Amino acid sequence: MENATTIWMDGEMVPWDDAQVHFLTHALHYGTAVFEGIRAYRTPDGTAIFRLREHIERLRRSTRAYGIPWDYDVDEIMEACREVVRANGLEAGYIRPLVFYALGAIGLNPAAAEVRTGIAAWEWGAYLGDEGIRNGIRVRISTWRRISGQSFIPVAKGSGQYLNSVLAKQEAIATGYDEALMLNVDGNISEGSGENLFLARDGVLFTPPISAGILDGITRASVMDLLRAEGVEIRETNLTRGDLYAADELFLTGTAAEVTPIREVDDRPIGTGKPGPLTRQAQELYAEAVTGKLESRRDWLDYV
Ligand code: PMP
Repeated sequence: MENATTIWMDGEMVPWDDAQVHFLTHALHYGTAVFEGIRAYRTPDGTAIFRLREHIERLRRSTRAYGIPWDYDVDEIMEACREVVRANGLEAGYIRPLVFYALGAIGLNPAAAEVRTGIAAWEWGAYLGDEGIRNGIRVRISTWRRISGQSFIPVAKGSGQYLNSVLAKQEAIATGYDEALMLNVDGNISEGSGENLFLARDGVLFTPPISAGILDGITRASVMDLLRAEGVEIRETNLTRGDLYAADELFLTGTAAEVTPIREVDDRPIGTGKPGPLTRQAQELYAEAVTGKLESRRDWLDYV
């Protein structure tokens, strides 16, 4: 990770090395925080943040889901994100807002702890590698099941819930794969450790529904919107492990991962073993949308 220069902390711009927290920060002990991951892109009209409002609205929903009292307006935090990108002189990069319980409580009731907000931004290339974006990645089905709505809030980005993703990711890397796909407690496919999944079969796209315990991904929604506008049929439906093995194409979507093809699942090649036509179409349309080349989706961009 490349260090940037400035982090926004509770309304102040703080030099990178001074953006520190105390050892007794509640969120450090119990994961009592919520966050977002957002990208800014170079466009012909300058740097723009992709679907910033949707990300900050999801952040606010995450605070509500976990009962974190948070006084900011969505517009204030959107402006803070633009400020961080400007202050770091970034033309493109990744933006990480975090709302966390800080000092003031050390038991499980965080009510007495101060709620703090920080926003960092830095340069970040392809999350699953340039080679992965071009030729596809190798994934495995995790032995870990995705957190369920009976224990957590899968549609929220709660920091503590990411220990589940970390277990799956570590297992995938340790056993020689690039990424993990998780089944849910019902045995249906949910998603990757930090990405949503799409499957192509006979020219139709399928993706697990929100009720499969996935995050309601903003890239997922964007890709669905872009492809449906091109006449591609997309069905939100439960998928099994067998459906993946028999797929013509598979790809992942996420702010960090963008649109990443999957070339193998559990050592079985998918389709031809090369990124297929619907995957390429999703990649191209998404790349055009984020870089301001699609006039019809200019309202998804927030210029810094
Ligand atoms: N699922 C999980 C578990 C994630 O952490 C992410 C990344 N935020 C995604 C899916 C993709 O969501 P988005 O497209 O909104 O980045």
